[in-house]
Amino acid sequence: MKKVELTEQALMILEKRYLKKDENGNVIETPEEMFERVAETIAKVDLIYDPNADVEAVKDIFYEMMSSLEFLPNSPTLMNAGRPLGQLSACFVIPIEDSLVSIFDGLKYAALIHQSGGGTGFSFSKIRPKGDIVRSTGGIASGPVSFMKVYDAATDTIKQGGVRRGANMGILRVDHPDIWEFVTCKDQEGVLSNFNISVAVTDGFMEAVLNDEEFSLINPRNKEVVKRIRAKELFDLIVEQAWKNGEPGVIFIDEINRKNPTPEVGEIESTNPCGEQPLLPFESCNLGSINLGRMLKKVGDKYEINWDKLRTTVHNAVHFLDNVIDANFYPLKPIEEMTKANRKIGLGVMGFYDLLIRLEVPYNTKEARDIAENIMSFIQKEAREASQELAKERGVFPNWDKSIYRDMGLRLRNATLTTIAPTGSISIIANCSSGIEPIFALAFKRKISLGEWNEVYPLFKEALIKENLYSEELIEKVIQKGTIQNITEIPEKLKRLFVTALDISPEDHVLMQASFQKYVDNAVSKTVNLREDATLEDIRKIYLMAYELKLKGITVYRDKSRASQVLAVEKEK
Ligand code: UDP
Repeated sequence: MKKVELTEQALMILEKRYLKKDENGNVIETPEEMFERVAETIAKVDLIYDPNADVEAVKDIFYEMMSSLEFLPNSPTLMNAGRPLGQLSACFVIPIEDSLVSIFDGLKYAALIHQSGGGTGFSFSKIRPKGDIVRSTGGIASGPVSFMKVYDAATDTIKQGGVRRGANMGILRVDHPDIWEFVTCKDQEGVLSNFNISVAVTDGFMEAVLNDEEFSLINPRNKEVVKRIRAKELFDLIVEQAWKNGEPGVIFIDEINRKNPTPEVGEIESTNPCGEQPLLPFESCNLGSINLGRMLKKVGDKYEINWDKLRTTVHNAVHFLDNVIDANFYPLKPIEEMTKANRKIGLGVMGFYDLLIRLEVPYNTKEARDIAENIMSFIQKEAREASQELAKERGVFPNWDKSIYRDMGLRLRNATLTTIAPTGSISIIANCSSGIEPIFALAFKRKISLGEWNEVYPLFKEALIKENLYSEELIEKVIQKGTIQNITEIPEKLKRLFVTALDISPEDHVLMQASFQKYVDNAVSKTVNLREDATLEDIRKIYLMAYELKLKGITVYRDKSRASQVLAVEKEK
């Protein structure tokens, strides 16, 4: 077995959360054995379709792709494949209807999913508003936000898969009468801390904002108009809240449904916790990401994209992720049925910033966006080809004749193929920049119980050494300033290339998200980072820009506006 090259931090995370342990909590698996366990479990699925399949050969391919850190599946697959829990997906959406039975069934399902290591998204939009009648008891309804608090409390007590806290997405439609309460429900830090929240805005609402018109809030129970409001006022409140602490985010629900590949099967109401995966009620999806920093070749002293390697990796990854659907143990029957009927997978990328640095192209340029579009359109095209090949051997996904692909004559094995995940943990394992994000800091102090030391972004260190500039003093300066833009001894060329999340303008963040979204079937995980002094007007502009560019959602975060964040901070504890 080839030895896996891991950083200390990667090893620490693996030991804490991924590797097998005995009853006393001692680690009894090496990283190599983990990749072998995963490769074998996923490769064996081939036997379902071909009793003579060469499982050993496929296992070797899967092992090689993971152990070289070129491709990693989402965390639950690494943690659970080949183990009793066996739940392999990161993303779930659970429907909630307007009844106590449905609300508490949903809560039970969420608990089971968290226990198995998955994250859950819900739309609370069908629940009747606060103060509405409850016929059975003659009482008064308490509204969606009150039930979200029940979900939040339950989540607190269940650790995901025994290793991480539960993550939820709570969605409310913009035309729900309780939208005001929802938009401000996380005003106090600590409230609903297991939820990310997003408003599902409609085209009708956005047009009313643009034309400064009135907009109706509708009771979902009887479809009656409860109130007319000035759309702009609500929009301004959403913007203000996002300015205050980054929430709520916004999802563009009509755009999501225009791109729904199976509209005859159902309407999409919600996404998974981080927003990159819109799903039908009771649907789940497994994700995997290609490390773009490892899809390069050196020609002379320059790097180029290795398209052949990328093509092969995409085909192997699609094969892998399609197998995951069959290897998976589903926490609920309806989820198994829906997931196997659509067979959605979410292949994406990580290490995009690393790739740009290697190609010497600054993130905030048209050239970088062209590279993004070339890479992602290539991945989408090759992923579809791989899915078509699988369809020839294994058949199209069962809902294919209720899908948009029927009319296109495109015989696919999977209703969706591509997603850009945050890759919060797997990018640490692969030691690469996360998802499509720029890095946040070129150098920072890492403090753990063993001591404190300076950590420097490896490619930055390399560039400084090449320029004969590397010194501890300079690094201290970089840490202190948080950016290199005002450090005189650093050459212009490096300043232009090594832009960090806060050096990049909000518009350039959004444009990059749009470049990827163009060629992604599902959605793109991206945070538009803003400096502390960003204004309400800045955020308003970003939201309108996101709508015009046909994004499926948008999340902003203003520097220092929150003491802690649901996933980014909590998940590594
Ligand atoms: N997720 C979760 N809990 C966590 C982190 C992630 O449930 O603590 C789910 C959630 O649905 C998220 C998805 O996993 O949208 C992908 O997140 P990420 O790519 O960061 O996961 P990784 O595979 O790197 O752990």
